[in-house]
Amino acid sequence: MSDPKHDSANKAGLRPNGRPRILVVNDDGATAPGIRALADAMADLGEVIVVAPDKPQSGMGHAITINAPLFVEELASFGPGIPVYAVSGTPVDCVKLARDVILDRPADLVVSGINHGSNSAINVLYSGTMSAAMEGALEGIPAIGFSLLDYSMAADFRGAQQAATHLAQQALAHGLPKGTLLNVNIPKGAPESIRGMRWCRQADAQWVEEFDARTDPRGRKYYWLTGRFQNYDEGHDADETALKQGFVSIVPVRYDFTDYPALEGLRQTWRLPDAATPS
Ligand code: MN
Repeated sequence: MSDPKHDSANKAGLRPNGRPRILVVNDDGATAPGIRALADAMADLGEVIVVAPDKPQSGMGHAITINAPLFVEELASFGPGIPVYAVSGTPVDCVKLARDVILDRPADLVVSGINHGSNSAINVLYSGTMSAAMEGALEGIPAIGFSLLDYSMAADFRGAQQAATHLAQQALAHGLPKGTLLNVNIPKGAPESIRGMRWCRQADAQWVEEFDARTDPRGRKYYWLTGRFQNYDEGHDADETALKQGFVSIVPVRYDFTDYPALEGLRQTWRLPDAATPS
């Protein structure tokens, strides 16, 4: 008997029903409106499986759960043929469990989101949305994270859905370079107000004035992470600029953090101790 999970005949493009398999994940949790909007958009393109945290996990980045058990619970489906699984862990746990436990065959595409709030510029580092997509890319699967610049639970996701449909189609048709995933951010508002899409680089920005200090009823000081996003980058090709001008920003991201130009320069200028000689 062949093991369906390891049967190469079932790999991408050879689905028995000819439809690609799309894994939908997020960090805002299985009940967030954004993931339902993304699953609905993907349903036209293939077979959709939703695997998401059972509670909000924003800002968890690439965290994994190693000191606690993980529970997987099947929830009510989002619609005919769209199963939904809730995981008691992080966004990255969801992608790992999907691969190893929930799916009998690998996904052809991993899409994450639609996040409630921006993941432009350096936010990619903290984002559970983007880390879930990154985990898909680590598994060799084309992966895209989608984020809408609107925190409201009643946000208009239609523009983001249109962008997701278009880019998922492109990813299924063309794939992505190995090790690369896409960070897609969508301006807030009705779809008619979106001016188009633009390839971008990550803007130079940071968070400042991060902590709000207060005093608890027992006189102890405590701190609440808050802060203000400060953009230093007005470049035409920066994602912040595109979003400000009403465009969807698309930034190709790599999980290989190696700074290759710096590696060369450092090799030539820094002196490292000579290799130990055997005595
Ligand atoms: Mn989130």
